[in-house]
Amino acid sequence: MKTHANIPIFVPHMGCPNACVFCNQRTISGHNVPDFTKVRAEIENALATVDAGRTAQIAYFGGSFTAIDRKDMIYLLSVAKKFTDDGRVESIRISTRPDCIDEEIIEILRSYGVKTVELGIQSISEKVLLLSGRGHGADCCKRAAELITGAGMEFVGQMMTGLPGSTKEDEIRTAIAIADMGAVAARIYPTVVFKGTRLAEMAEKGEYIPMSREEAVDRTEAAFEVFAERGIKVIRIGLQSGEALVSGEEIACGDYSEAIGEMCISRYFEKKISALCKDISGGDVTVYCNPRRVSCAVGYKGGNKEKIKEKFGLRSIRISPCDGLSEFEIRINTNQRS
Ligand code: SF4
Repeated sequence: MKTHANIPIFVPHMGCPNACVFCNQRTISGHNVPDFTKVRAEIENALATVDAGRTAQIAYFGGSFTAIDRKDMIYLLSVAKKFTDDGRVESIRISTRPDCIDEEIIEILRSYGVKTVELGIQSISEKVLLLSGRGHGADCCKRAAELITGAGMEFVGQMMTGLPGSTKEDEIRTAIAIADMGAVAARIYPTVVFKGTRLAEMAEKGEYIPMSREEAVDRTEAAFEVFAERGIKVIRIGLQSGEALVSGEEIACGDYSEAIGEMCISRYFEKKISALCKDISGGDVTVYCNPRRVSCAVGYKGGNKEKIKEKFGLRSIRISPCDGLSEFEIRINTNQRS
């Protein structure tokens, strides 16, 4: 099977008419406003590093691609299309906000051969959208997703946990809605409070309380579970760390961990294994999982094994790879049942 390489080109904030309370786009992408004349060379350089036999996709990420100046958008699409036309790149991907999608935009994207559109849905709760300053309602998200899928393009849904006014139930509902909208994949971002944002001011005034680490894991895992159970690939949990994030110098308050994705998937496996162990008391247990998911089953910093062992009074627990199992499938074998 051919593997896939992404060529990410960041198009930060520019053109976005909005001011979401959490947004500090420059920090997120770690890039300044790009010089578009360099994009072609940037793609050429990236292509030179893609191994033979891998397909490549150009991905315009980082802001609201369809809200940038129309000339710039068309220019960037035409640059990308040259690469798809000559067969060196397989497809084009963009990310944007729901209220920057309409029939005309869809037609432009389709004419340049865009294959995948990522939408920043963030939440489908009207209250959360309002408190977060998104500037549109839930209907707008559904309509944008419909236009994308109706045009035969892939829709990828991005959502956030821990937004102002949001609850775990809102986030589960959002994940279900994204799945129902026909998403082929999803990204989940626990809210990070950046310096200089309205959210940082809200936190300072006590109008917003950031999630603790435990809450972030619990709520983000709950959204992940919806996608995993519906067979929808989660391509990212948590912000990609730029330098500023790693050093923490751009974070105003609250928690941030690069390992949040690992922690969430590890929690998901802990829950699945626990459910299978619920009638077991003592003895030795072997847990079988897909070979690529052994570390998730073992848990973040090996924590799942110890927790499950203790919870069910097991003498031992072993995690074993099993080729026949699908990505999130778990089987157990035990020598003792209550
Ligand atoms: S829509 Fe995106 S780029 Fe625009 S303010 Fe909101 S988060 Fe930032």
